[in-house]
Amino acid sequence: MTKVYYNGDVNETYLANKKVAVIGYGSQGHAHSQNLRDSGVDVVIGLRKGNSWDKAEEDGFQVYSVKEAAEQADVIMILLPDEMQPKVYKEEIQPVLKAGQALLFAHGFNIHFNQIVPPADVDVLLVAPKGPGHLVRRTYEQGAGVPALFAIYQNVTGEAQELALAYAQGIGSLRAGGLETTFKEETETDLFGEQAVLCGGLTSLVKAGFETLTEAGYQPEVAYFECLHELKLIIDLMYEGGLENMRYSISDTAQWGDFVSGPRVVNENVKAEMKKVLKDIQDGEFAKGWILENQANRPVFTAINNRENEHQIEVVGRKLREMMPFVQQQQKAKKEVVTV
Ligand code: NDP
Ligand code: MG
Ligand code: MG
Repeated sequence: MTKVYYNGDVNETYLANKKVAVIGYGSQGHAHSQNLRDSGVDVVIGLRKGNSWDKAEEDGFQVYSVKEAAEQADVIMILLPDEMQPKVYKEEIQPVLKAGQALLFAHGFNIHFNQIVPPADVDVLLVAPKGPGHLVRRTYEQGAGVPALFAIYQNVTGEAQELALAYAQGIGSLRAGGLETTFKEETETDLFGEQAVLCGGLTSLVKAGFETLTEAGYQPEVAYFECLHELKLIIDLMYEGGLENMRYSISDTAQWGDFVSGPRVVNENVKAEMKKVLKDIQDGEFAKGWILENQANRPVFTAINNRENEHQIEVVGRKLREMMPFVQQQQKAKKEVVTV
């Protein structure tokens, strides 16, 4: 297995005399800044006026414009939405960047696909906790942490690895473990995972199952429970103990059906298609399409989103969830948390 870094592998004083500007105070931003502060690091926040600004001030941080924050910091962690990063970088960060500063990211997309091209005289690295911000914060408060990936893209000071590890320690991640990756690997596997499995694969699988049942005349309400609602139980079991733990908990009939029918549904053709999806990611085709879509103000994204929201599984699901207030409450509490 690849080398895993822990607290003992870090120069504890590396961030002691440095100032970190966390740009953005959303899911990741609030967690990184609060954890770093509690670890004794000098943190300022860079934002535009708005909800996050007020929240960061309420939480006791000194908040500046992105430009002012970037200007005064040694380390600049960019935790804006990925689509916003190139514009904000170009207008507010690039003009004030100084030699020897470090630019950090929590996702490699913009660097890997050339949407941000940093100057040659700054360090560029990635520290990406493998979990949503609320979990990064909660585990830290409990004395634990969420594991993180780190990667070095540019190392002009020769200290990029020391910084990556010190930052990962500051947010609590090295209590769980840090794994080294590259911008390329982090970006391509992240995109593939969300497209083929976690989001795209899963929503298409759920809809195909639901449609197969309803087209065969079964009630949509019953199909909803079988193909969507019960997923949570299965996913929780897999999260806690892998496929084995899930299979241990289901009936033997369900397990036998899993063995004989699963590979018929997700068959070699599906895997061949996954390979094409991966190739589009590796070739930059996916990135190009998404960047252009954003430049065009998202016409296709909006059209598909509207259509998807009116799918029968959504209409029937909204009604059924009204019968299950316990589900809705959970949904509200977790609204901001999930990004993959
Ligand atoms: P969020 O959408 O939760 O937060 C974005 C923040 O950026 C908000 O505080 C928002 O403030 C601010 N912002 C948006 N536009 C601007 C602007 N033009 N100028 C200044 N501030 C702005 O982002 P995430 O935390 O989800 O993502 C941040 C990064 O972390 C991304 O690179 C993402 O890929 C990565 N990541 C996210 C994970 C997650 O679970 N969420 C997991 C691992 C990595 P405002 O209130 O003003 O809109
Ligand atoms: Mg059943
Ligand atoms: Mg992603």
